[in-house]
Amino acid sequence: MTQTQHADIVVVGAGAAGLFASIWAGRTAESSAAPPSHPSIIALDGAKKLGAKILVAGGGRCNVTHHHVDETAYFGSSRNTVRRVLGRFTVQQTVDFFADAGVTLKREETGKLFPTTDDANTVLNALLHQARAANVHIRHPWRVGRIARDESPNAQHPFIIARAVEQPTSQTADDASLSNDSANAQPTEIIRARRLILCTGGMALPKTGSDGLGYTFARTLGHSTTPRIFPALVPLILDDSSFIRALSGITLPTTLRVLSGTGKQLVSFTNSTLCTHFGLSGPGPLDISRSYFDAKAADPAATLVINWLPKLTTEQLDNDLVNARRLPPLKFFDRPSHHLPERLARALCASANIDPLSPCDNLPRNQRRALALAVTSAPLPVTGSRGFTYAEVTAGGIPLAEVDPSTMQSRLCPGLYLAGEILDVDGRIGGFNFQWAWASGFIAGSSAATSLSTSPHP
Ligand SMILES: Cc1cc2nc3c(=O)[nH]c(=O)nc-3n(C[C@H](O)[C@H](O)[C@H](O)COP(=O)(O)OP(=O)(O)OC[C@H]3O[C@@H](n4cnc5c(N)ncnc54)[C@H](O)[C@@H]3O)c2cc1C
Repeated sequence: MTQTQHADIVVVGAGAAGLFASIWAGRTAESSAAPPSHPSIIALDGAKKLGAKILVAGGGRCNVTHHHVDETAYFGSSRNTVRRVLGRFTVQQTVDFFADAGVTLKREETGKLFPTTDDANTVLNALLHQARAANVHIRHPWRVGRIARDESPNAQHPFIIARAVEQPTSQTADDASLSNDSANAQPTEIIRARRLILCTGGMALPKTGSDGLGYTFARTLGHSTTPRIFPALVPLILDDSSFIRALSGITLPTTLRVLSGTGKQLVSFTNSTLCTHFGLSGPGPLDISRSYFDAKAADPAATLVINWLPKLTTEQLDNDLVNARRLPPLKFFDRPSHHLPERLARALCASANIDPLSPCDNLPRNQRRALALAVTSAPLPVTGSRGFTYAEVTAGGIPLAEVDPSTMQSRLCPGLYLAGEILDVDGRIGGFNFQWAWASGFIAGSSAATSLSTSPHP
C-alpha cells in the first residue's frame, strides 16, 4: 500500500545547496506576511549520514568560500549568468550567515576561507541546526527513486516524488506511472509537493549519494543535460612509462599549461603539484584537469605541458645553464634560485639524456636546450583521469539557459527550482564550488517560498 503525503516545498538532496535552499525557504516563509505562514518544507536525502561532501571538503576542514569570488573562477554555462547568481548572495553574506550561525571563518594566505575550528563538522552542524530552526523537516535516508509531474490544470501538488526501496511492493493505480522502474526502485512512499527544488548534485564522489540520478529527474521534467558530463578537479593518470610515477610523494609548485594542437596556450595555472604512483594530483593538476580534458575532446592534438620552475622560461633557464659553467646540473638544481628536489632533478636529467654530474659547460648546446625544455616545457603523457570516484566536482549538467537566474526556477517546468552542482557550473579549487551552492541555493529556496504566496499554482 502506498502512503501519500503532501508538502508545500520538497527539496531533493540535502547537501550544501539543498540545505541552504531549505534554510532560506523556511526563513523566507516565516518572514512573509502572506499565507501559508507555516508551509511544510521537507528536505530528502538518500544518505545515511548527511553532509558527506561537506565533511570531506578541504581535507576535513571545509573550505567554505574564497575571499574573492567572481565568474572568472567558473566554467560551464554562461559566465554572465554565473555572475548574476553570485551577485545575489555574496561572500560577505556567506561570512555573515555562518557568523550568525556561530561559525567564524578565517581567511588563509591563499584567499580560502575556513572555519576557525579547522573542522568541517562545525559547518555541517551549523547548517543542520539552521535548517531545523527554519522548520525544515529533514528526512534521511530517503532516496528518491522517481519524480513525475501531474499535468492536470487543477493539481495543487503537481510534483510526485516516489521513494526508492529495496523490496518490490504493491502500488495503487494512481501511482502506477511511477512504478515501472527497476525492481530495486519500487516506491512505497509518495510525497506530493507544490514546489520542487532539485539539489541532487552531480556525479563526483558517487559513494556520497550524488550518482547522477538527479539528471534523470530533470530530464523527466523536460530538461536537457550538456552533451558531455565529465569529472573535473580530478587527479591525472600518466602513462606507465612516465618517470613522474616513480617520484611519488614529491610536492612542489609548478605551472601547467594547456596548449592547442597548433601550440596556442589556452589556459595556464600555477599551483602546488603532487607526484603520485599513478601520475599527478594536488591543486595545480586538479585545477587544470577540466580545461585539459575539455580541450582534448575538441582537439585531440591538445597537450598539457609542465614547468617545474615556474619563475623561469626555457630561454632563461638555458641562459642560466650557460652561466653555470663548471657546476654540474645536480648542484645547479640545488641552488635556491633553481631548486628542484634531487630525485626530480636526476629524473629530468635522465629524461634529457644528460649526466647530472657532468659540468654544465661540457654540455653541447642541443643537450643543454633539451634539459631546459625538459624542466620548463615538457608535455605530460596524460592517459586519463581518476574519474568521478576521485573528482571533486562535475563538469557539465543542466544548462543555465534552462533556468531563470533571478529565481533559479526552471524555464521549462513551472514550480521546479534547481541549485548547486546539478547545473552546468563548476568552479576552480578554493571554495568556489561551495559559494555557487550557497548562492544558487539561497535564490532557489527564497524564490520557491515567495512563489507560494504570490502564485499558489505553479
Ligand atoms: C573530496 C571533495 C572535496 C571538496 N572540497 C571542497 C572545498 O573545500 N570547497 C568547495 O567549495 N568545494 C569543495 N568540493 C566540491 C563541493 O563539495 C560540491 O561542489 C558541493 O558539495 C555541491 O553541493 P550540492 O549540494 O550541489 O551537491 P552534493 O553535495 O553532491 O549534494 C547532493 C545531495 O543529494 C543527495 N542525493 C542525490 N541523489 C539523490 C536521490 N535520488 N534521492 C535523495 N537524495 C539524493 C546526495 O545524497 C547528496 O547529499 C569538494 C568535493 C569533493 C568530492
